[in-house]
Amino acid sequence: MTKSEIGRFAIKPSRHSTLASQTIIAYRQMTKIVGRTVLGGKFLSIGECMVELSQAGDGLLRRGFAGDTFNTAWYSRACLPADWSVDYFTALGDDPLSGEMLAMMQGAGIGTSHIRQIAAKTPGLYLITLKDGERTFSYWRDTAAAKKLADDADHLRRAIEASDIIYFSGITLGILAPDAIDTLFSELRRAKAAGKTVAFDPNIRPRLWAGKDVMLKTIEDGARASTLVLPSFDDEKAHFGDADVAATIARYHALGVANVVVKDGPNGVTLSFGGDVQHVPAVEAKAVVDTTSAGDSFNGGFLSRLLTGATPAEAAAHGAAVATTVIGHHGALIDPSLLPR
Ligand code: ADP
Repeated sequence: MTKSEIGRFAIKPSRHSTLASQTIIAYRQMTKIVGRTVLGGKFLSIGECMVELSQAGDGLLRRGFAGDTFNTAWYSRACLPADWSVDYFTALGDDPLSGEMLAMMQGAGIGTSHIRQIAAKTPGLYLITLKDGERTFSYWRDTAAAKKLADDADHLRRAIEASDIIYFSGITLGILAPDAIDTLFSELRRAKAAGKTVAFDPNIRPRLWAGKDVMLKTIEDGARASTLVLPSFDDEKAHFGDADVAATIARYHALGVANVVVKDGPNGVTLSFGGDVQHVPAVEAKAVVDTTSAGDSFNGGFLSRLLTGATPAEAAAHGAAVATTVIGHHGALIDPSLLPR
């Protein structure tokens, strides 16, 4: 989108643009911002964290843990002040690997008290293979405990009611059975109606879905349940056929989403908070080593600043700085001490 297009889009009369300033004021009240003083809060990320196996040479495999919503929880924890809690919501098994994953989360300062452990279940697993410099991913997740994360509606409700911001993704939705998606949506809608922030990254992954129609319809329903969506333009163009970033923003506003943040790789992000459109450039990457988790880490950096009193543009600049640091290192999860302050 050119700058003049952004301007035209911003002033296009719509019920959203007239609501822009109220939206931001309401947002700041909702996030407990009094002047520039921000009180702490509770961040809940819902989804699947998997066991990651990568090549360590000589036929050996290195074991790690990662998953889109967990990566965002990791970077949110790294960027939020200590008076904010960050909890992960998923289901795990009662096997040793599930225990190691829980210990890793706790070691990172991420709360695990909402995580249900299901007897005789195990976490999902993926293997990264390098062929001619290209990474390919093989998944074993059909029987993963995380597929049952929304099966206990009361448990899910208690976790959501205890939180100020709830974050989920299209991957969270893609692993769930239809009934479980309905349960999750009804709890998210309840949270939205109660004035909480419900943030959604569509993270469109066709291989998780039975067909394109159900995938796109469920992503749209996820957006309807949200107050803020953070899509990646490449995905939206490929699957919804959006001609440009403005089309992605307009489509999500039309679904009733007040705030939209469209990520576009090195082209930066375009924000539309209540129809007030701004472009924030990416931070130039001196070296792109591994783009895994670029979007997830942007989301963590962005949300952590937005929740603690920054303007959307300031928050996006921090998200971009975090993402550029992350893609300069190997792996989805980098040591928090490497991140910009
Ligand atoms: P996703 O990983 O979800 O596809 P993007 O590719 O849009 O998301 O990247 C998310 C963010 O990461 C961007 O908004 C930008 O800040 C940063 N980013 C990604 N690729 C680059 C790059 N090549 N140079 C600088 N920043 C990048």
